[in-house]
Amino acid sequence: MCPVVETAERSIVVIEDDANIADLVNLYLREAGFRVLLAGTGIRGLDLIEQHRPSLAVLDIGLPDIDGFEVCRRIRATTMLPVLFLTARDGEIDRVLGLELGADDYVTKPFSPRELVARVKAILRRGAAAPATESTSFDIGDGITIDVARREVSCGGTTVALATKEFDLLAFFARNQGIALARQQLIEGVWGADWYGDDRTVDVHVRQLRKKVGDDLPLATVWGVGYRLG
Ligand code: CA
Repeated sequence: MCPVVETAERSIVVIEDDANIADLVNLYLREAGFRVLLAGTGIRGLDLIEQHRPSLAVLDIGLPDIDGFEVCRRIRATTMLPVLFLTARDGEIDRVLGLELGADDYVTKPFSPRELVARVKAILRRGAAAPATESTSFDIGDGITIDVARREVSCGGTTVALATKEFDLLAFFARNQGIALARQQLIEGVWGADWYGDDRTVDVHVRQLRKKVGDDLPLATVWGVGYRLG
């Protein structure tokens, strides 16, 4: 088994224009052993990500140049880098949970820096635990294959671009084909038992999987329970 990379070697890009919040996040992440790179604008943050290949990005939404959603879109265009959003309003949470962005998690302002650090560690733990030791690929329907090791999904020979959690969710379904899975099981299996979100997260991601993979995805809604693949 591959050794888990030590926390001390990990760097995190924090994109936040509010200097007080940035300082606080910086302080706590450093205390937790991370190397922190701060950016006050979205463009600067994208530059840092390209130059330093961090393990995770903490991303504010209201930024002076391009907003956090656009930053996330640009990150996702080239990498699966985990993203943790800092959100200020309910309307933002909906968009964060939503869809094409594929955020890995979020905290709502005002947040406890300790909670933020805990979330960051949880995301990195999940990432470290998942792919390296696995080499399985699954056929999950008519011409649909998921290769967990390569983190690739193909449909009729064409690669389907999925966000991090969408992929993790599909992989979890693939490992449990034919079994009706409750939303809570899915949350624990994919987001982890320490995740605070609600069941709606699952529904949003399922909707997105159906849209991206297409009608051939044999993912059924099991009323009163959750979902079943195959
Ligand atoms: Ca801001």
